[in-house]
Amino acid sequence: MSVLVYTESDQGVFKKAAFEVASYAKAIATDLGTTVTAIAINANDTAALGTYGVDNVLQVNNDTLKAFNANAYAQVIKQAAEKENATVVVVSSSADSKYLAPLLSVGLNAGYASNVIAKPESTSPFKVKRTAFTNKAFEITEITSEVKIVGVSNNSFGLVESSGNASAEDFSPSVPDLGITVESVDKASDKVSIADAEIVVSGGRGLKGPENWGMVEDLADVLGAATACSKPVSDLGWRPHSEHVGQTGKPVASNLYIAIGISGAIQHLAGINASKVKVVINTDPEAPFFKAADYGVVGDAFEVVPTLIEKLKAFKAQQ
Ligand SMILES: Cc1cc2nc3c(=O)[nH]c(=O)nc-3n(C[C@H](O)[C@H](O)[C@H](O)COP(=O)(O)OP(=O)(O)OC[C@H]3O[C@@H](n4cnc5c(N)ncnc54)[C@H](O)[C@@H]3O)c2cc1C
Repeated sequence: MSVLVYTESDQGVFKKAAFEVASYAKAIATDLGTTVTAIAINANDTAALGTYGVDNVLQVNNDTLKAFNANAYAQVIKQAAEKENATVVVVSSSADSKYLAPLLSVGLNAGYASNVIAKPESTSPFKVKRTAFTNKAFEITEITSEVKIVGVSNNSFGLVESSGNASAEDFSPSVPDLGITVESVDKASDKVSIADAEIVVSGGRGLKGPENWGMVEDLADVLGAATACSKPVSDLGWRPHSEHVGQTGKPVASNLYIAIGISGAIQHLAGINASKVKVVINTDPEAPFFKAADYGVVGDAFEVVPTLIEKLKAFKAQQ
């Protein structure tokens, strides 16, 4: 019996979510009195995983798996779970993991709870807290199957360092014929991705036009943040669709979400509710976003944002 964790990577580099799910797996393993095994596909930084509580890494190096394929990855993880006799498999709540987890669930005859935001309330019975109704409610879900799959929401558990060292083991699962070959991948941008970002700076229609996004990007640069936008902004072509967040766009679970000139429609809030601290800058004191905000500035973005950038730069210069 062990806890298996699938540690996602991008071009050989583990994503932040990989360390968060490893930390989460360690917490469960400690409760169960067992160890954590990670499965790493075409990424070999064993030491980094050890820092977050992984005891052993099954390393798969296989060119066929260079590009993500949900069917193939699910089959590889299934073989790892069977080899390890894993009773709990931990994955992230990224789009890739949400795609592969149901396939893995079928393969392992395992119950799967997605969007889990905390360590299990109990491991016998196995109960987890997860978000429901697009982050507007919480529910406690019991997973009753023998093997359990937990999908952890990004930035919900955090990174928890451990003192252990991870050992590495080559693992050569059988990889199915995928029937397709990914020849190249063009990324939308080489900036911080919304999914991995600790801080997201987001702009809405209140910014009037694409020519005014310079200050949004400057603020994001100062903060080391990703940029995002509301749906109409990407519909109008002011910003790329990859930045659209909300119910029909990308979900954001950052530590800090700064909304500039966004009204706070329910469909927008649905995608960003999981963010920890929300700051709203809006000229209209009645804008619905203020009800969801932790901090609010009633003011003109064209005055507030440049001042904020200036103050942050001055603050950083003193550090
Ligand atoms: C089925 C469906 C799905 C949807 N999915 C999404 C989704 O995923 N994501 C999403 O974002 N929307 C979504 N929408 C659209 C959503 O309902 C809203 O229309 C949209 O979020 C509004 O975008 P906005 O806040 O940028 O623009 P607006 O509603 O036009 O708000 C602009 C805001 O900027 C403020 N403002 C104006 N000037 C300034 C200034 N100088 N400084 C500061 N503030 C200023 C205004 O007071 C206002 O509050 C969806 C709608 C439907 C029907």
